[in-house]
Amino acid sequence: MFTLSKSSPCGVYIKLGNMNIVPKQWSESNKTVYKSNEGGEGSRPNWLLKMIELLKKLIEIKSDSKSGANEALLFCAAWLEEHGQEVTVHENNGYLMLTAVKGQGNETLIWNGHVDVVPGNASQFAPVEKMGRLYGRGSADMKAGVAAMMMAFVELEAAALSRTVQLHIVTDEEIGGHNTSEWLVDQGFTGDFVICGEPTNLKIGLQSKGVLHMDLIFKGKPAHGSRPWEGQNAIESAMKFHNQLGTLPFQQEATPYYAHPSVNLAIIGAGDRYNVVPDRCRMSYDIRFLPGQDPNDIIQQMDGLAKKLEIDMEYKADPSTPALTTKPSHPYIESLQQAIRKAGHADPVLFGQHGAADTRYYAATMGGEGAIEFGPAGADWHGDGEYVIISSLFDYKAILSIQALS
Ligand SMILES: [Zn+2]
Repeated sequence: MFTLSKSSPCGVYIKLGNMNIVPKQWSESNKTVYKSNEGGEGSRPNWLLKMIELLKKLIEIKSDSKSGANEALLFCAAWLEEHGQEVTVHENNGYLMLTAVKGQGNETLIWNGHVDVVPGNASQFAPVEKMGRLYGRGSADMKAGVAAMMMAFVELEAAALSRTVQLHIVTDEEIGGHNTSEWLVDQGFTGDFVICGEPTNLKIGLQSKGVLHMDLIFKGKPAHGSRPWEGQNAIESAMKFHNQLGTLPFQQEATPYYAHPSVNLAIIGAGDRYNVVPDRCRMSYDIRFLPGQDPNDIIQQMDGLAKKLEIDMEYKADPSTPALTTKPSHPYIESLQQAIRKAGHADPVLFGQHGAADTRYYAATMGGEGAIEFGPAGADWHGDGEYVIISSLFDYKAILSIQALS
């Protein structure tokens, strides 16, 4: 049985996987670009059939709840152990996660995947294969990534690694990742480079925007609704402020990966009757700032705008999610691009993610860099028609292994 650990479990003993795969094997067979291979099943090697089988079993586990995600996690732990891999299952607040370690050397490469999914209709938990695609809840987001990571991991020849590779499988990414990925990082499970296998169509999501939440309270002066000139309408002050937001300097900035930051007016609360001039209006903004922008500077610009407009405004700001700022020149981004080319994709694509993922917890210990999203191809995750393109799974596994062994 695998070890169950509730406390800091660094330094897990490593057993070798029982299969050896060297890059040559797939460089022969992996020329097909996934886009051109959507139609047919063709002749699939046994290990690919096995990976598809693994993915189907994972999809069948209804992991849209805590208990379901834990069940999927224990299934992964048992599968890894059956394949000769020692794993440690950890528990935090009732959420399970696992770590497995292999290799040696000064650097650590981490593969992170989550087995929890957003809720889906019953039919989505019965995977269907059609036209080279596998449909089902979690097929793309991200049980495909997990299945490929598991297969690649057990096949890695430990003796051939010049770095340590850690596999992290977690169960609460869709609700924020605080109980598993964040907890693992707190326990010291971090490294030099982290790949979260979110679906990215085999593109490298090397950056992501930071998150700044601001709650603004606009203050006015109450008066009778029949004599509004005797008061100061806080809703009107808030509207005036909002209409000027687009002029702030931080909104004019762009980077090679982003055309602009984003500002979402998410919540408004004000006024409760017709005959009173409202003296208070609360507006809450979800601001996604660019890598390189300083959230404190944005806060100052927001505050400065209110002062310039002579509006009485107080605020609370929470800039606790930093942007991820990995650069294209990062050595692991370069080795990943080389691996993608070796797997038959001539032009690796780098892009910036708009939303945040578990990458942020790892990056927080790594100076904001070195945690990326990179995963197989699919579509409609969180939607009714979610699917993964099976041949991208094949390529994804190959790319992971090539980079780990590089
Ligand atoms: Zn995901």
